[in-house]
Amino acid sequence: MRTSPISEDHSPLPEDREGLTDKKRLQELIQASKLALLGQLAAGIAHELRNPLAVLRIESDEIALLAKALPSEAGGAALRHCETLNRNIGKMVSIIDRIQSMSSNAGTGFKKLDIREILGEVEHWSRRLIEPLGISLSLEGQPSDPHFYGNETQIEEVFLNLIRNASEAMRSSGHGSSIRIRTESDGRHIVIAVEDDGPGIPEDVLPRIFDPFFTTKPEGEGVGLGLSIVAEMIKAHGGAIDAQSAPGSGTRFRIVLPHDRRLAAREARG
Ligand code: ADP
Repeated sequence: MRTSPISEDHSPLPEDREGLTDKKRLQELIQASKLALLGQLAAGIAHELRNPLAVLRIESDEIALLAKALPSEAGGAALRHCETLNRNIGKMVSIIDRIQSMSSNAGTGFKKLDIREILGEVEHWSRRLIEPLGISLSLEGQPSDPHFYGNETQIEEVFLNLIRNASEAMRSSGHGSSIRIRTESDGRHIVIAVEDDGPGIPEDVLPRIFDPFFTTKPEGEGVGLGLSIVAEMIKAHGGAIDAQSAPGSGTRFRIVLPHDRRLAAREARG
């Protein structure tokens, strides 16, 4: 019997115990993915702050030049104010440097992964989430090359998020009962399709599903971060994701991941 990494199987009720453990692991993964998105948001804000801070520094230097032309007492006071301004601008720039260096490590720490093993783990963990809802999950396809470079936890999170979304859509609509994951290789990339026969996504909603904080779920049920995190993680792997759907005809997410480590790093940098 396979156990999830955080499971310690001393329970007299292994079935229940494993179910709880899987739920806990899922919650941890979801929490980690929220943190990953916060990191991305922080990096984006840091980037946006760099230009206005550069303008502030130039303006402060201009004021300092003018202050030198003032009578000594007033000029001295103005110069000290400018120094305080510059010192604090410098502090903000170093905070920005730190945030950006923390989040610019896309591609580092990647290792050679096998998509079949990842999907096997995902199937194992999600089984307990979807089986009670009467939803089946099937893995199909034999890619000629199953290898790629990446972060195992992040790629698992990607598929867990997609499965969770599909099963929630089926549960809340009462429409659909199966999820299919098909894997193939086009020689340069692994191509994975995650398909469900759930309610589908309305035409006006589809273009917005990858936007951060976009959700159609009732308040308290969804925060709208799942798919934006998924897209960020796939991008960090040099890959791409898209979605096709029509109301009543289910939804298909297509993920493309490069096999080659250098191609992945190059495409992740854009
Ligand atoms: P959340 O799950 O918190 O709503 P997501 O970013 O994961 O945030 O999803 C955004 C929206 O995309 C969902 O609220 C839902 O409307 C739609 N969605 C995602 N996957 C599916 C799916 N498989 N079937 C139907 N709708 C989906």
